[in-house]
Amino acid sequence: MGHCPRIADCAFLKEEIYRNMPRLLQRFQNTYCQNRFTDCACYKIASVLGDQFVPSLMLPSQIEWAQQILKDNTPALTTP
Ligand code: SF4
Repeated sequence: MGHCPRIADCAFLKEEIYRNMPRLLQRFQNTYCQNRFTDCACYKIASVLGDQFVPSLMLPSQIEWAQQILKDNTPALTTP
């Protein structure tokens, strides 16, 4: 899998707290941004709901949190 298409805009990569933890940032970049980006919690939310729904301190590995946000913000399908 290629690079994440959201690298230029990603709030996680720009977050100052994480920029001060370069080893942690590099580990996540290697695993998600440069490889399995569709497994990234931030990507899942941003691609479905938009950037504004991604919590500022969310880590790419926080899948359960992402699933909860997606569930809470996806309107239930209604039948006419
Ligand atoms: S994989 Fe996740 S953390 Fe990496 S650039 Fe994409 S959205 Fe951001």
